[in-house]
Amino acid sequence: MTSSSSSSSTFQMEYPICHCGKPSPLRKSNTKENPGRRFLGCGNYEKGKKKCEFFYWVDPDPKVKQIEDKIEVLESEKRALHLKCQEMENLVQNLAKENKKLKKKLVVVEGVVVSYKWKSFILLCACIMLWFTRKL
Ligand SMILES: [Zn+2]
Repeated sequence: MTSSSSSSSTFQMEYPICHCGKPSPLRKSNTKENPGRRFLGCGNYEKGKKKCEFFYWVDPDPKVKQIEDKIEVLESEKRALHLKCQEMENLVQNLAKENKKLKKKLVVVEGVVVSYKWKSFILLCACIMLWFTRKL
């Protein structure tokens, strides 16, 4: 008697008690929507007796799990894109710096070209003047 009552109390500790006062063992759903999903229901479930409202899913909703997985994938994609964006921004900044340097160089080179043009012009003028003075 003592051992049977102790085993019964162990049984009751392992499974929650439904509103009818019956132990509610873990069951597996075999519906199309929730195949193999484990749940706790009324202890009178499947016994043809009047059932109470006691019902809890033990496993998460497979649809929720799918959505959570998708969210995780999207989150990791988002992180990868964020990194790529950062990389591109750095590249743009470096290119802008390079452009600034090249523009400065261009100004210097243009100055040299202009000075050479003036020097050539002055030389040409000198040649023409020399040619005229020789002719006179
Ligand atoms: Zn019940």
